[in-house]
Amino acid sequence: MSDDTATATVEGVEVDTRHWIGGRRVASVDGPASTFEDVSPLDEATIARVARGGAAEAEAAVSAAADAFPGWARTPAAERAEVLHRIADGVEKRLEELARVETRDNGSLIRSHRRGVMPRVAMNFRFFADHLLRLDSGDVHPDFMTRGHRNHVTWDPAGVTAIITPWNAPLMLATWRIAPALAAGNTVVAKPPEWAPLTASLLADIAAEAGLPDGVLNVVQGLGTEAGAPLVADPRVRRICFTGSVPTARSIAASAAPNVTPTSFELGGKSPLVVLDDADLDLAVTLAVEQFDNSGQVCLAAVRILVHSSLHDAFMARFLERAGQIRQGDPRDEATDIGPLIARRHFERVCGFVERAVADGATPLLGGGPNTDLGGLYFRPTVFAGAAPGSEILCEEVFGPVLTVQSFDTDAQAVALANGTDYGLAATLVSGDPEHAQRVSAQLSAGTVWVNCFFVRDLGAPFGGNGRSGIGREGGTWSFDFYSDVKNTCTAPNGWTTPPAWAQG
Ligand code: NAD
Repeated sequence: MSDDTATATVEGVEVDTRHWIGGRRVASVDGPASTFEDVSPLDEATIARVARGGAAEAEAAVSAAADAFPGWARTPAAERAEVLHRIADGVEKRLEELARVETRDNGSLIRSHRRGVMPRVAMNFRFFADHLLRLDSGDVHPDFMTRGHRNHVTWDPAGVTAIITPWNAPLMLATWRIAPALAAGNTVVAKPPEWAPLTASLLADIAAEAGLPDGVLNVVQGLGTEAGAPLVADPRVRRICFTGSVPTARSIAASAAPNVTPTSFELGGKSPLVVLDDADLDLAVTLAVEQFDNSGQVCLAAVRILVHSSLHDAFMARFLERAGQIRQGDPRDEATDIGPLIARRHFERVCGFVERAVADGATPLLGGGPNTDLGGLYFRPTVFAGAAPGSEILCEEVFGPVLTVQSFDTDAQAVALANGTDYGLAATLVSGDPEHAQRVSAQLSAGTVWVNCFFVRDLGAPFGGNGRSGIGREGGTWSFDFYSDVKNTCTAPNGWTTPPAWAQG
């Protein structure tokens, strides 16, 4: 770490750790003392001191975004799309640097960042740039007629958008919101997660190099309660995108209410993996083992495995064997399968869930505690059986490498178990019969159901959750619906005398 609080060198990459407001790097108004420590999950070393924003920085960033809005909103769609593609080029050019910094900052695998996550970051910009052009051309939603009148739908830019995101996939989750907001003609104030704030700062550099005008994207660093809370309470903010936990969502919803600011919430999950009686066992085991990815710190993870009783014993034998082979270690090593948990506080939270599960009568068939060979924040992949119905470990999101297994005898029981939490983000079904899978899928409460696959996410597909998993859907046109003031212009044909309103169909 550099002594200079304005920059840090992380894995050989220089990162400016100040805010990015109105096209300028700025420290917090309180000066260099106003920073927080960014601690790496790999060894709990402080890798950067990052600007600690508050109400003044949130206010300045919203002002910059509000000033920049009219110009960016008027910029023709083709030009906006070009800038977004250039940002994607910049991400691809700096992909290795982004991957290295993100791995050091949040402990996710370098191999995932290189092959999947960072290419996806670039894709977020390319996809929404292209989708903007399709919307603009009328390709997605052509004009339609009502008694000779032409209805023409436009997606008008909505204004300043606040984007608050978590640490488990920092740049991917931030750009999944930033890219469509910018494509829609909005200006953005992003508040990155304090446990992994660095790649957002690199993104600001990339966006500036790509020619994004000053003030169109602003980054305010800091803690949620200090920097995020004043941001979402600002009446000039016309959209709030939040990805994170349910308690924070409640607080943000309360701040949004007085201004009637539209919100899009992507929250937690407790998703099921349902192995039906006609499932391919190898596929079921492979999908179950995948749920340990990112040490279970994945909102979509299918952490409740529900297996038909006829397959239970065979499934468990293979699953425990395969899960026992997961290689845990330094995420910078390409051979590592899972790394550490994000932070000491989160590690202790996961430990607490596991201790209480045991106290409640559940049996750990694998793992069940910290990885004492590795020390630090490494927690062993853990599988519980025998958890009591309604117990905490079956209902609450752990956000760690902790799975439960239950069995069922009928589809009706499987559906009842699958739907038996307050969440409804995703569900995964394994079945050898498409009609059987369809019958069960139709009864599941989830924003996404995967059949014989997991984590396949087309950016054009709707994404979001039911119940406490969120509010709204994003992806493709659903994103533009949220980030825009959607308008219908209804035009009478030339010379037409409009009939009275009550006569309109
Ligand atoms: P969190 O709610 O603690 O924090 C998320 C963000 O909100 C951070 O940037 C934080 O600084 C900010 N924040 C905290 N308090 C705030 C406040 N009062 N006002 C404004 N901003 C505030 O969540 P987390 O622990 O960082 O993330 C984990 C959670 O995110 C899990 O529940 C996980 O399931 C969820 N998640 C959901 C999705 C999804 O797509 N549905 C994706 C990833 C993570």
